[in-house]
Amino acid sequence: MRMILVGPPGAGKGTQAGRLVATYRIPHISSGDMLRAAVKEGTPLGVAADGYMKAGKLVPDDVVIGMILERIKKPDSANGFMLDGFPRTRPQAEALDAAMKQAGVELDAVVLIEVPDQLLEERAVGRRTDPDTGTIYHLKYNPPPAEISGRLVHRKDDTVEAVTTRVSKYHSETAPIVPFYEAKGILQRVDGVGDPDVITTRITAALRAVPST
Ligand code: AMP
Repeated sequence: MRMILVGPPGAGKGTQAGRLVATYRIPHISSGDMLRAAVKEGTPLGVAADGYMKAGKLVPDDVVIGMILERIKKPDSANGFMLDGFPRTRPQAEALDAAMKQAGVELDAVVLIEVPDQLLEERAVGRRTDPDTGTIYHLKYNPPPAEISGRLVHRKDDTVEAVTTRVSKYHSETAPIVPFYEAKGILQRVDGVGDPDVITTRITAALRAVPST
């Protein structure tokens, strides 16, 4: 299964991707996680990306495209992958398309997790990640156990200000990839409002109808 998860910031892509990759036994390739790791390590890529990320802006296409196209060439992606957070612009979608054509493989599904704007800010601002397990919590909707609260990470771009920019970038830059995949007949729209377990069920039901290559 070669698939993409698309949705606004705070739609639950990371949470859902973590569950789905266990079911489909494919690598979870998150452009945001890869960039955050590069920032933490202080690599040239991380240094280039840091300022954009803190401000909630998109990292330039050429940086992100190179990073992801290299990643999906690795042997663990040969039989499938889940892209989370990439592509995020039309040029990124076109570059992925061209690279996959060249490799002679096809995308099976693009899942669009739909959540209204008014819910996104609260979801992102309350989000906390456990760096040891990668588990994503929400202070109100999915509270973390008290014993791990000391080690939880609050992303630098999960502030009201950065989330506002990220939502606006989603509408101007990322939403245009939706008709691109709709025209290919591989777009699955899923309602992203509700309990995370229910949303996982909705996504797996949508994917059951998809013939995997
Ligand atoms: P995410 O973890 O997917 O919310 O991504 C966090 C931040 O990383 C974004 O706000 C961007 O600054 C950057 N980023 C992640 N993926 C991309 C991408 N595909 N294109 C450009 N910037 C990205």
